[in-house]
Amino acid sequence: MDNRRWRGAALGSCRRRARRYHREVRLTLFAFIAAALHAGELRLGRAEVKITPPEGMPMGGGFTVRPGKAAHDDLFCKALVFEQDGTRAGLVSCDVESFHRPWIVKARRLITDAGGVPGDNVMITATHSHSGPEMTPIVLAGAAGETKRIADAYHEALPGRIAEAVRLAGQGMEPARVWFGRGSEDSVSFNRRYVMKDGSVKTNPGQVNPDIVRVAGPIDPELLALYFDTPEGKPLATIVNFALHTTSWGGADFSSDYPGIVARRLAEVKGADMTTLFLPGCSGNINQVDVTTKERQSGPAVSARIGNILAADVMKLYRKMEPVPAAALRIRSRAVELAPLSFTGAELAAAKRTIEASRKGGAGGPKFLDIVHAFTVVNATETHGGKPVRTETQAIAFGEELAIAGLPAEVFTELGMALKRGSPYPRTLVSELANDMLDYIPNLRAFPEGSYEPTTARCAPGCGEHLIQEATSLLVELFREGMRK
Ligand SMILES: [Zn+2]
Repeated sequence: MDNRRWRGAALGSCRRRARRYHREVRLTLFAFIAAALHAGELRLGRAEVKITPPEGMPMGGGFTVRPGKAAHDDLFCKALVFEQDGTRAGLVSCDVESFHRPWIVKARRLITDAGGVPGDNVMITATHSHSGPEMTPIVLAGAAGETKRIADAYHEALPGRIAEAVRLAGQGMEPARVWFGRGSEDSVSFNRRYVMKDGSVKTNPGQVNPDIVRVAGPIDPELLALYFDTPEGKPLATIVNFALHTTSWGGADFSSDYPGIVARRLAEVKGADMTTLFLPGCSGNINQVDVTTKERQSGPAVSARIGNILAADVMKLYRKMEPVPAAALRIRSRAVELAPLSFTGAELAAAKRTIEASRKGGAGGPKFLDIVHAFTVVNATETHGGKPVRTETQAIAFGEELAIAGLPAEVFTELGMALKRGSPYPRTLVSELANDMLDYIPNLRAFPEGSYEPTTARCAPGCGEHLIQEATSLLVELFREGMRK
């Protein structure tokens, strides 16, 4: 090989090596970019597990044991599992009135045991259906015989059904895009507290009551929806968040009420494979009763009207939803202590006598608000032992633009609106009844006004504002961490 040919060959092999090197660099770069893009990808799994109660199971939402008739429509526990960069979080909503803390603890333990998602990363809430199974231990304590047997068996199985929904959702993860829609609906919900002629404030004072002067508080008309689909556009799930008590069905047969109707209507548009999950907004003082008319305010027709209106609102939102950039998924809980109420031994004994008398039924029994107060005394004294009420607030954040906040109990709508306003996330959904049930949490103003909700409150005046401060602070903490990343 002469010098020139050698140089040529050497140059040739050099060029080949350089080309190979550059190709490898390019491939590595592509792989790196692809990995970076992939790392940010959100994945979603969803599942629905039937929890329709059997005939004879007590119905929820009251203060006495009322065995229910066969279901009108099926009840579900619906679960979404989110995954991003190895973090997994879950969101569960079930067609029940509420979950007291022991259910949550048990369900989360089973979720952790199943291995897919850490139980503490799952927010568990209820649609607050008053035509679902009875979930209040203190009411169920009055059940006996066959009714008690049915209730015990149903409740024993329920945490397992929640865990099953999460497990199934975690098995079918698919790449997902997130879309957000904000609408307004002011024709179906009413603040149920009214200032009366004698200066008092009354909850549900009755339709066309001539003593009503004015409504005592606002409604939150904001209807928020999150929609998830695959990058190819296959519908996966819709989350609907609206503040309205789920009390419109009103029958003696089990029903998921209007949230179930919303889900069925949306499935007609987006396909039966799509899961619709209802997150109850803060509706402690909000229901469907229009006091200006004598028209019936509950029953299947009312439930259908509300369900169809809200579903139509979401359908309109689908057409103008904004994409939410896929970014870090983060979830965190904060333990919260709410100032306790204290009662004497004599007050506790009197409360127990009132509850006993109320279980006998018939005329001449204790008055409604006295029964409500008696339950509060027993809960504050025995359930919480006169100590601060320990509970939880939780948040799931999708990057810096979207978060879901969970509050325990039935929270006044003013408090939910304050949390949305105070949140650093421009899009914040707030679910009440998340991870705990402590009856009502009124705002400070409502305590001295009295009537139904403040009478049920297990925590002292100001506990609502304290809860919102803690929840806001948790959102701020998550948000600032996200900004630093
Ligand atoms: Zn309620």
